[in-house]
Amino acid sequence: MSCKLPVVLFTASCLSASVIAAPADTLLIRNGYLMPMTENGGDRPATDILIRNNQIVQIGQNIVAPNAKIIDASGKYVLPGFVDAHNHLWVTTMRGQFRNKQGKFFPVSNKLASAMQPDDVWQAMYSGSLELLQSGVTTTGDFFDNIRGPEWGDAGFKALKQSGIRGIMYYGGPDKTTKNKIDLEHLAQLNKQSTGRIQLGLGWRIPRDLSSQQNWAMRDKEYKFAIEQKMPIQVHVSGDARAMFDALIDRHYLSPALTVVHASDALPQQLDALQDAGGGLVLTPVSEQRVGYGLTLLNHFNNVKRLGLGIDGNALSGSGNMFETLRTAALTESGEAKDETLPDPHKLLELATRRSAESIGLGSLTGSLETGKRSDIQIINPNTLNMGGYGGGDPAALIVYSAQPENVETVIVDGRVIKDEGKLLGVNMEQLLKATNASARKILERSAVQ
Ligand SMILES: [Zn+2]
Repeated sequence: MSCKLPVVLFTASCLSASVIAAPADTLLIRNGYLMPMTENGGDRPATDILIRNNQIVQIGQNIVAPNAKIIDASGKYVLPGFVDAHNHLWVTTMRGQFRNKQGKFFPVSNKLASAMQPDDVWQAMYSGSLELLQSGVTTTGDFFDNIRGPEWGDAGFKALKQSGIRGIMYYGGPDKTTKNKIDLEHLAQLNKQSTGRIQLGLGWRIPRDLSSQQNWAMRDKEYKFAIEQKMPIQVHVSGDARAMFDALIDRHYLSPALTVVHASDALPQQLDALQDAGGGLVLTPVSEQRVGYGLTLLNHFNNVKRLGLGIDGNALSGSGNMFETLRTAALTESGEAKDETLPDPHKLLELATRRSAESIGLGSLTGSLETGKRSDIQIINPNTLNMGGYGGGDPAALIVYSAQPENVETVIVDGRVIKDEGKLLGVNMEQLLKATNASARKILERSAVQ
C-alpha cells in the first residue's frame, strides 16, 4: 500500500484503493463457537464457516479448503456483524457538545450542521463508520439529513463506500426542519452509482405542521419518487409522535418500503396498523432516553415483526457501541418490569443482528450466519478481564452484559477483512484522530462567527 494517510481529505485520489483490503477469494473461520442468529437455530460449538466470493458457502465441522486463508476462532464467539438500523453519522464530530441544559441536542446540532463543509461531512461519516466497524457493526442505516448541496451528498456517499461498511444511505434534506425539499435529481444520480454494498434510500420527513397541505404535497412527491425507484424510506416519528403516526396511517403511507424511527410511545393500534402494512420500526434506546423521549421499552413492541435497533448518532449516543445499546435496552426493560430475568439475552442479540437487518429490508443479505448470505461477521475474543471469570453458562448473557468493542477481534464485511487481530486494517489511527479532531474544531470555529 503506497498511500498511507487515507484520512485527511475525501478528495484525495489515493483513498478508494487503500482503505480496505481486497476480498480474499476463500476464507475459512475455523473452530469457533458459532452463534448464527437464524430464526430458529441454536448455537453451534466448534464449527467452521467457509466464505467464497464474499458469500457464506458452507457451515460445518472440519471443513477442508486447501487454499483458504484461515482465521482460527478457537475459544472465540463467531456472530453476524451487528446491524445499526438508524444513525446520523455526520454528527460524529460533535462529541461533547450535547450537555443537557447547557447545550441541547437539536439547537446545538442544527447550528453546527450549518457550519459543516463537504470535507467535514466526509470526515465525520468516514470516522463514524470506522468506529462502528471496529465495534462489530457491519451494516448501518444512515439517515443523512445535512445535505446542503450535491457536494455534501457526494462526500457522505464516498465516506460510506470508502470505510468498507455495508449500508443504506437515506438521502435527506439540508437540515432537520421540514420546510426544504430533498434534491431528488441528485438522489437519482447517486442511486446509479450504488455499489450493492451501499444502497440509496430516502431520508423522509413529514410536515412539522401536519395541517400544511402545501408541505404534504411536496412530501408526497418525494415518497412516490422513492417508491417508483424501489428505494427504502425512513421517517422520524418523534416529538408529537402519536399525531405523526396517525397522519402516516390516515394518508396510507405505511408500507413495506417504510421504516418508522423512534415512535417509542406509539399506541398498540398504531403498531398493529404498521404490522398490517408490513412496515418496519427502529428503536434507538440510548439516544431516545438521552433526549428525553421517555423510556424505550422493547416489550411494548412484541407484535412488531420487523423491529430493529439503532445508534442514532455516535456522538448523541456517546459512542457507536451496540453492546451499550443492548445493555441500555435490557436494563430499561428489567428495571421497569421489576423482573431481572427480562429480556432474553439471546433474543436481544437476534434483535441487533437478523431482526435489525429485516427492519430495513436487508434481511436476505445479512444479519445471520447461513449459507447464501453475504459474509458480514464479527469474532469476539473473551480473553480479557471484563469477560473473564466465565466457566460456562449462557454465552449470550456473557456478551450482552460484559462485552466491549475491544473484544471484537475480527470484522469481515462482504468477504473483506476490515479488522484483524483487534486492529482496523489500512487505517493510521493517529492520523485519523488528528484529522477528525481538526474538523470538529473547524466546525466550532466557523459556527462561532456565524
Ligand atoms: Zn434519527
